[in-house]
Amino acid sequence: MIVHLKPGIAAAKMEELAVAHQAIRFHDDTRNVLVLSSKITELPTALQDFADEFFVTKSDIQLASKEYHAHKRAITIGDVTIGGDSMNTMMIAGPCSVESREQIEQVAQMLKELNIKTFRAGCFKPRTSPYTFQGLGEEGLKILAEAREKYGFNIITEVKDSSHVDLVIEYADIIQIGAKAMYDHSIGRRCGQTKKPVLLKRGFGTTLQEFVQAAEFILSGGNPNVMLCERGIRTFETHTRFTLDLCGVAFLKEYTNLPVVVDPSHAMGYRYGVPDLTRAAIAMGVDGLLVETHPTPDKAKSDAAQQLDLDQFRRMYGTLQPIANAIGYKMI
Ligand code: PEP
Ligand code: MN
Repeated sequence: MIVHLKPGIAAAKMEELAVAHQAIRFHDDTRNVLVLSSKITELPTALQDFADEFFVTKSDIQLASKEYHAHKRAITIGDVTIGGDSMNTMMIAGPCSVESREQIEQVAQMLKELNIKTFRAGCFKPRTSPYTFQGLGEEGLKILAEAREKYGFNIITEVKDSSHVDLVIEYADIIQIGAKAMYDHSIGRRCGQTKKPVLLKRGFGTTLQEFVQAAEFILSGGNPNVMLCERGIRTFETHTRFTLDLCGVAFLKEYTNLPVVVDPSHAMGYRYGVPDLTRAAIAMGVDGLLVETHPTPDKAKSDAAQQLDLDQFRRMYGTLQPIANAIGYKMI
């Protein structure tokens, strides 16, 4: 149950109520909120004098639920808005990793030409092996900050573990929590303390329920700016890297109030499938797409097989706007 508290209650009293009801308490810019267990379906007597309104939810998907917010939340990043009534589909594009200033410059020029506003690249890479490229770390963040300065992009880059979460929050316009970090609650809780938008990726072995509950760790810290990203789940199939769960995307759209982003690159794992999957996802009416592109993908230091080269990206991008328009959306 979510309870909006009346204004003017002393902090000590709110804390007492939270402790007594094993509730999480946060301030959402306009009011103080208590989140109790979802098993509680009637307003406890002790809260009756203090509650303005309350919301009963079907499960511990609470702050992210349609029972709480019937309409999709809007998120504004610089001069870009997604969700709400915007009908915008935001293209997030860039290489898997920051490798050099020249590489970022080449991709940045192409994205600027296409009027794409959101640039992605990882500096702390969650690699499967410790013996492969792990990312440039802060040096990479500085290169991204230069690209933002020069081209006016919003920058999205990922947090791999809690050792550098503050650094990424400082540099990024959107914080990406990668699939392998979805369950790292120290990252989730830290991201709950900022208002910067967070793109939370679905762990590839997690259910939709577990995925959205991970988002609750961020929302219940007081950060309402969370996007959910479907990036493929592991199934019995071996011909593709993962399986893009578009059924899951339909579920997230229907039952949550958070903007939904689809990442066809990591799901497919091979560049030949990425343009088709991108078009399929746009046709579903999503709030964002995340596509990896690199000047020389075969030489990429991470995710070489799935990144589009710049011409492939440009050609694909040229086909997207009419698909978005056909269902009332606009690619931005
Ligand atoms: C990435 O976006 O480059 C990445 C590592 O993604 P994921 O966490 O989905 O594997
Ligand atoms: Mn990648």
